[in-house]
Amino acid sequence: MNERPFTDETIQVFTYKTLAECTDACWGNGGILINGCESDGRPYTMTRKKAMTAYRKRKCWGFCRGKSEVHLWIGKKATKEQVIGLIAHELGHMARPFRQETQAEEIKAGRYEKIAKTAYNIATDLLTPGQSDTESEE
Ligand SMILES: [Zn+2]
Repeated sequence: MNERPFTDETIQVFTYKTLAECTDACWGNGGILINGCESDGRPYTMTRKKAMTAYRKRKCWGFCRGKSEVHLWIGKKATKEQVIGLIAHELGHMARPFRQETQAEEIKAGRYEKIAKTAYNIATDLLTPGQSDTESEE
């Protein structure tokens, strides 16, 4: 685990070398069944092993603790868009108001994720030479 505080000391980012280290930090050693919720609000229940397989396919995974900690596992094949989406998703959970209802909270975080990915893709298109219609002012 690697601790990297932001310059804004209210948020600390913890990164893990492996998915197992990250999920252990979230779930502890217990928990055979994982109850989660997709960013669109669809709930899921799966075994810990199946959840790990699903998270590995996504190439990155994380969780947040309260309003001050983001914990991340970033697989070697994760894209910038995926990582930005994940971080935005977790920051979305940290944004207030917190929704007591799990589905509503996941949908809220999912909106942050979608906005961040969309902004990333627009910026990438604009900054790629030949992709922008705007004339250079230089
Ligand atoms: Zn979430």
